Amino acid sequence: MKKIVIAIDGYSSCGKSTMAKDLAQEVGYIYVDTGAMYRAVTLFAMRHGLFDAEGNINVEKLESLLPEVNISFKLNPKTGKPETCLNNEVVEKEIRSLEVSQHVSPIAALPFVRAKLVEQQQAMGNEKGIVMDGRDIGTVVFPNAELKIFVTASAEIRAQRRFKELEAKGMPADFDAILKNVEERDYIDTHRETSPLKQADDALVLDNSYLTIAEQKQWLMEKFHERTAE
Ligand code: C5P
Repeated sequence: MKKIVIAIDGYSSCGKSTMAKDLAQEVGYIYVDTGAMYRAVTLFAMRHGLFDAEGNINVEKLESLLPEVNISFKLNPKTGKPETCLNNEVVEKEIRSLEVSQHVSPIAALPFVRAKLVEQQQAMGNEKGIVMDGRDIGTVVFPNAELKIFVTASAEIRAQRRFKELEAKGMPADFDAILKNVEERDYIDTHRETSPLKQADDALVLDNSYLTIAEQKQWLMEKFHERTAE
């Protein structure tokens, strides 16, 4: 069976990573969560005090420090799942906080940040056999991906899922703050100048508002088999 590149894009918190991770495991592909990479840069900026009280970024300082930022993924032998590392420190939990979520979209709108991460992402897909999720995978990172999925669901349903996820991890959660964050990120991600979130012309749309995980998986596997058989 031929190896392909699978690009999964879509709005915040619509279950892209869960779906992409599961698909990758099922078909034996490498999974890359590009949102985690933008989150790791955000965590780095927060730790270096590059945000002021209003959330403005010290862009010059970040640009000069960016060569020091090294993002990688390490497999956790216990869970069998990849974890995000910032300069070799596992930061998987830290990057999922609401504080990072509240600062990430302006960081992801910076062209020099995108240039660095996109280059790394493209290198990871050289050998194909990869599932990558994000906002610009089918449009910018892999415009020739054999299978492109654009995932969407209503903002309320997405906020509800994120709320439950944070709660389950024992991280304090406030539904209204999460909903506001989901809506704000949607707005910034779709309106930014560099690589805005948009559906690639050849992407298949998946609205999973009312789909169970099993239904979604069945749909994905059908698409995967269609594309790898071509
Ligand atoms: O996917 P996740 O919600 O973790 O992504 C965090 C943020 O990173 C998004 O809100 C978006 O601003 C940014 N992002 C991006 N391009 C990607 C992946 C994520 O701009 N390919």
